[in-house]
Amino acid sequence: MPDASTATSSQRLTHFSEKAEEEAGMKISIQKTKAQHIRKRAKVSDTTEEDVSNLPDDKKFKYECDKCGMTYPTKHGLAVHKGRHCKGRRRAKKPSRKGTVADRIVKRLKVERHQDTYEKVKIGSDELDNVFTFIYLGAEIPADGDGLIPVKHRCDVAWGRFGEYRKTLMSAQLPVVTRCRLQNSLVTSSTMIYGCEAWKLTVPVKKMLNSTNSKQISLITKRTIHQEAKTPTIDALKMVKKRRHQYLGHILRMDPNRLLYRFLVEVSPQQNEGALLSEIPHRTLDELLAAAADRDGWRQLLKNNEEANVGESRASLGTARSR
Ligand SMILES: [Zn+2]
Repeated sequence: MPDASTATSSQRLTHFSEKAEEEAGMKISIQKTKAQHIRKRAKVSDTTEEDVSNLPDDKKFKYECDKCGMTYPTKHGLAVHKGRHCKGRRRAKKPSRKGTVADRIVKRLKVERHQDTYEKVKIGSDELDNVFTFIYLGAEIPADGDGLIPVKHRCDVAWGRFGEYRKTLMSAQLPVVTRCRLQNSLVTSSTMIYGCEAWKLTVPVKKMLNSTNSKQISLITKRTIHQEAKTPTIDALKMVKKRRHQYLGHILRMDPNRLLYRFLVEVSPQQNEGALLSEIPHRTLDELLAAAADRDGWRQLLKNNEEANVGESRASLGTARSR
């Protein structure tokens, strides 16, 4: 529920909770209900070794260097540290954490902690937690509208899924074609690009998606990550575009009084990079409406668009780091 201030929000929620209990016997869970202040992400200090050693017990990094005592959240992180950076002596200057997975974890924690300094919304006398991001229906929604966060979240979930089925997906006993089909239905189309209709499809988002996808597929096909990024065996980005195009067609065919339709044509700016409407450039709304009315023509439009952007210089998307 959106609200202008914590006071009115508390009032509404308290009323809501009382009535829910009185009239429907429903209790609103304090733990599961969160408050999100819509504002920019708090600026936090750089990660120091002290931050890392002061992590709460359940978040401590598990992989410790036996020479210098630095800890890492992943086995890979520790391996890189040992191979490239470790000076071996306890007192030596420790390598920087900047840009590492550890850095991101610590910064995220700081951002979440900063939320405690904001005003609290209450239900009765119980305070709700403030959160910077909130996961709703499988989409992680940040308070500042950062378009990378929901995509990063889906990529993380996709890695989890990939891990679950790793044995099968990488099994040498199954042909590559079969494993690719499995990967597509288990991970790519069902998990990774879930909810992509609502993404802001900017270049960094495309990069993140292409990079996660190519890393996973390369594990299956044994082609290099770069090959999979350039000419993917399973093209996640193409699937995203198709899904968004279909969805745009659905909305354009809706009754013009529907909220979703009105949001798209009145509020969502056509020229903004990554917006749903911006994917079919250089067309007026009337032209789009006419095109969408004819389903076959609409599908053809996607194909023409694809041919026009062949490779949309996939090379330029490259394989940015995503994990
Ligand atoms: Zn070390």
